[in-house]
Amino acid sequence: MLPTLLSPASLEACFARDYTGAQVRFRHACDRHEHSVYHEFVYSQNGPDNHKLLTATCRLGAPDAKRLLVLQSATHGVEGFAGSAIQIDCLDLLHQYKLPNGIAVLMIHALNPYGFAWLRRVNETGIDLNRNFIDFTRPLPVNTGYAELADALLPADPQAMAQADAKLAEARHTLGQTAYELAVSGGQYTFADGLFYGGQAASQSRLYLEEIFQQHNLARCEQVAVLDIHTGLGPYGYGELICDHPPGSVGAHWAREVYGPSVTEPALGTSTSVPKLGLVDYYWQEQLGDRVSFVTLEFGTYSVAEMFNVLRRDHILHRSPVDWTAPETQQVKAAIRKFFYPEQPDWQEMILLRGRQVIRQALQGLQELK
Ligand SMILES: [Zn+2]
Repeated sequence: MLPTLLSPASLEACFARDYTGAQVRFRHACDRHEHSVYHEFVYSQNGPDNHKLLTATCRLGAPDAKRLLVLQSATHGVEGFAGSAIQIDCLDLLHQYKLPNGIAVLMIHALNPYGFAWLRRVNETGIDLNRNFIDFTRPLPVNTGYAELADALLPADPQAMAQADAKLAEARHTLGQTAYELAVSGGQYTFADGLFYGGQAASQSRLYLEEIFQQHNLARCEQVAVLDIHTGLGPYGYGELICDHPPGSVGAHWAREVYGPSVTEPALGTSTSVPKLGLVDYYWQEQLGDRVSFVTLEFGTYSVAEMFNVLRRDHILHRSPVDWTAPETQQVKAAIRKFFYPEQPDWQEMILLRGRQVIRQALQGLQELK
């Protein structure tokens, strides 16, 4: 019999069962490095197991390195299993293979720890962090497409689900799949308990990210490659590199040079993702301009239709205070966890191997920079 690509033990070492397990593994993997710099950003809420929630950072390499690779996980909470595993795997690999001179690695573990722990895509205030990076001093964007579908997406009476589904199916038919996805998932700033809600102000995680940026003096870097790891869009196990830099820009060009033709661009319609408002990406671009190349490493699981369904059920559940141990809660949580984290060895193998490939390409790109 042929062996598996990665041993069951190495999968087991990287993939945790829950947020707390992931945080502990990340901390240990960081501590095993003699010169790592570890830092925690604590939140006021706890997880369902009553453990504290935190975004942790770990930096390896020279403190004055001007070229930096950033690995970010759990921007969308429940999607954090894959990103956390890739970060832990990378920390372990960097024992064996030293970082090239002048290059540092910064890991941002669990940018949205609440969502990771409570198995939600959104944060403690219902905000989708990847719609939260807009300029809140200006009038908020208006998404009329979402407003028209809001009642059908999250019906006030859960018994009326069949009727709501029929309305959504009709909208999808009339608008076409892309326009429908744009309306539903492009981002909205009106319905606080709704899907893909960007908030009314900067979230705690955004403020922490801004602090991390200052703490590590990232403005001084000459080139930063960011990999933000997500799950839920695209073919099962496939790791798509989504680039939301403007088409033709230096950042988009760098991504293509370094990662090759597997890079896709929502603005050109070549991605499984549609263009979106308020992405974390825009913050990095605003801060570093042409000196950053930010790509989302998105791992596929199941269908978009299924994703909307698990998210709708989760949002309906969280309209009232949640009893974590109630059977209904556990059912909804098992479904959302399985959607964003299939937890099968074949899927896990694909995640770690693609992660290693992309990290190697990024480090090589930084090293070869003229
Ligand atoms: Zn995501």
